[in-house]
Amino acid sequence: MRITEVETILLSLPEIRDVGDGCQDLLILKIHTDVGIVGLGEVHTNAPAAKAIVEAPLMSVSASGMGRLLVGEDPRDINRLWDTLYAKTQSYGRRGLAIHVLSGIDIALWDILGKATGMPVWRLLGGARRSAVPVYASDLDPGDPKALLDVAARHKANGFRAMKFGWGCLGSDVRQTVQTVAALRRELGDETDIMIDLGFAAPLEDAIYLGCAPADHGVYFLEEPLGPDDLEGFARLTANSPTPIATGEQETMVRPYLDLVDRDGLRIVQPDVARVGGITETLRIAAHAEARGVRVVPHCWSADILIAATPQVIAVVRDAPYLEFNATDNPWRKGPASNPFRPVDGLPELRQTPGLGVDLDDGTIDRFRVKEASTALAV
Ligand SMILES: [Mg+2]
Repeated sequence: MRITEVETILLSLPEIRDVGDGCQDLLILKIHTDVGIVGLGEVHTNAPAAKAIVEAPLMSVSASGMGRLLVGEDPRDINRLWDTLYAKTQSYGRRGLAIHVLSGIDIALWDILGKATGMPVWRLLGGARRSAVPVYASDLDPGDPKALLDVAARHKANGFRAMKFGWGCLGSDVRQTVQTVAALRRELGDETDIMIDLGFAAPLEDAIYLGCAPADHGVYFLEEPLGPDDLEGFARLTANSPTPIATGEQETMVRPYLDLVDRDGLRIVQPDVARVGGITETLRIAAHAEARGVRVVPHCWSADILIAATPQVIAVVRDAPYLEFNATDNPWRKGPASNPFRPVDGLPELRQTPGLGVDLDDGTIDRFRVKEASTALAV
């Protein structure tokens, strides 16, 4: 089997707003083969920039575009191709955008391997530890405590038994934030897990306060209360916070997680499969986490291919209790897959379908696809 083409599909909402929703443009990859199998991947980053990395020409032995490195190769050689993509982009890659693109390619290669062998990806990864993956609703803070309680009540009525809010006013007034968490607990009862995501760095003293003061209300984790590069801050925070601290969605590759776990005392790490280096690199992170007794709750705030890929990993990791499910009103909540994973009472079953188990919805793709001419203008 040989790869014949790496096709990029750039999607964009008609209006992209300056809000905490990183799911407004999207790069989908279709890796075609000479036997008719097509692998699907998704890249969670600045999509036009990622498209350029796939399509860029050769500039030197260590500064190649990625697509040309794959054509003619056997897509089942995932480890070797992963190493090649890393090595032959290292002049401009190694972290950030290039690894985001590598992530989408890796996801598509696993999809091909599953389709070629007739097995779901989770089985190829050694078999599932659970038959269904619990979901938490992940939503933006509307910025008004009363409105937040209404959104929480709606998610509970829709069957979610865990939910996360963030990126609004939470954290800006720490005493108000504690009151809001207390009100959420009263609204939701004791059976619902509540997560808080600050999203932007708070002062260390505020972060410590928020790790301590709402702890009596049972916060499952406090996410990204500090900037991703504040390693000293995370070490001091985890030493003082009874609430578990979670972070990692901005990282690429396994090495930052070694610092977060071994130096900073993180108890929950959040790799994003479509950013961190794909399914392959997420498994390396999960292996380290498992050896340290650290929980893995992957970041998953994009569209249907990532929502299909992430449970494949969660299914096989020993301590991975939740799949993040974007519960906002983003139009892509109804696409771009024709058969997307959707939680029923907060609990989607693992699929037996070969590969990732999702197909693209042509109508959604046509509706949101950026045509080549406008792509050039946008870039
Ligand atoms: Mg987050």
